[in-house]
Amino acid sequence: MSRMKRILLIGTGGTIASEMTEGGLTPELTTEQLLSQVPAISGICGVDCVQLLNLDSTNITPGHWQMMARCVQTRYEEYDGFVITHGTDTMAYTAAALSYLIQGSPKPIVLTGAQKPIGFDSTDSKVNLMDAFRCAAEDLPGVSIVFNSRVILGTRAKKTRSKSFQAFSSINYPDLGVLRDGVLLRYIRQECGTAPVFYDRLDTKVALLKLVPGVGRGLADYLLERNDALIIESFGVGGLPEDSGLYNCVRDAMSAGKTVVLTTQVENEGSDLGVYHVGHALKNELGVLEAYDMTTEAVVAKLMWILGQTRRREEVARLFYTPVAQDILWPAG
Ligand code: ASP
Repeated sequence: MSRMKRILLIGTGGTIASEMTEGGLTPELTTEQLLSQVPAISGICGVDCVQLLNLDSTNITPGHWQMMARCVQTRYEEYDGFVITHGTDTMAYTAAALSYLIQGSPKPIVLTGAQKPIGFDSTDSKVNLMDAFRCAAEDLPGVSIVFNSRVILGTRAKKTRSKSFQAFSSINYPDLGVLRDGVLLRYIRQECGTAPVFYDRLDTKVALLKLVPGVGRGLADYLLERNDALIIESFGVGGLPEDSGLYNCVRDAMSAGKTVVLTTQVENEGSDLGVYHVGHALKNELGVLEAYDMTTEAVVAKLMWILGQTRRREEVARLFYTPVAQDILWPAG
C-alpha cells in the first residue's frame, strides 16, 4: 500500500477563515478550525498546520509573499505538498509572486480560499479546501490556484468576479485541469525541475499606472520619481496618447535607468506595441518592455523579482522575456 501523503496547510486569512463581526467580515478562524470543518480531508492525506498570518488579503504585502516562500522552503523536504489558504482579493498577485520566488517545484503548492466564509450555510469554502488537498496530494508540480473545481496556473490567474463562486479566470492560457466528482482531470502537466530554486529578494518599488483618455504626464512623472519601474496599462494592443508628454516622460525615465513596461487594460490576448503609430516608436526607438500575453499581476511580481536581482538593462530585458512557469508565451516562448 502506498504511503499517505503529508501536506502542510499554511493559513494566511481571507474570507474562508472569516467570521461576521460588528465591523464586517474579519479573518478569525485558525487553520485547525478550518480543517475541523472538512473531516474528509483526513482520508486523503496527513496534515500539519501553520498559522502564518490571519489577514484580509487586501492587507497582504510583498513582505508576506517572502514569508510564505520561506515557510515553504524551510519545510520543503518534510512534506509532499502545500496548501495555502488566502483571501481571494490579492490571491492572483500572491500566486504570481510565489511562482517567481519558488521556481521549478516538483511538489504542488496550491492556493485556495473562498467567496463565502466556511461557517456560512451556503459556502464554497469546504469544497475548495477539499479540492485543494486533493490536488496537493497529486502529481501537480508548481504553484497553482484551485478554486470552484478548476486548477489555474499561478502565473495566469486573475480575479474576474467579485462575488460569485467562479472568482478566477486563467488569462491567455488554458486551465491546468478540473475536478469532477472529486477526481482531478489534468489537461496540462506543468514542466518542473527535480528540485525547486528558491529566491528571497524583491524590489517593491514597482508602480502601476492605468491610463484614462486625456491623461497628462504628471502622474507618471510622480510615480517614476519614486519607483524603479513603472508599468503602464495602456489601451488596446498598446501605445501612449501623442499629445500627453508621456513619450518624453518614458524616454527621460529610461535614460535615468528606470524600467518601463507597457501593457494593456484589455483582459484577453495581450499587447502588440509595434502595430500602431501610437506604440511603434516606444517599441522600436525607446525599447520599452512590453507585457505581451502576461497578466498585470504577473508583470508586477516578475519585475519585483527581477529588480531584486539586477538593474542592468539587458539583463532585466532578458529575464523579463524568459518564460517562468509559462507566464509569457508570445512571442518569446
Ligand atoms: N476581502 C477578502 C480577502 O481577500 C475576500 C476573499 O477572501 O474572498 O481577504
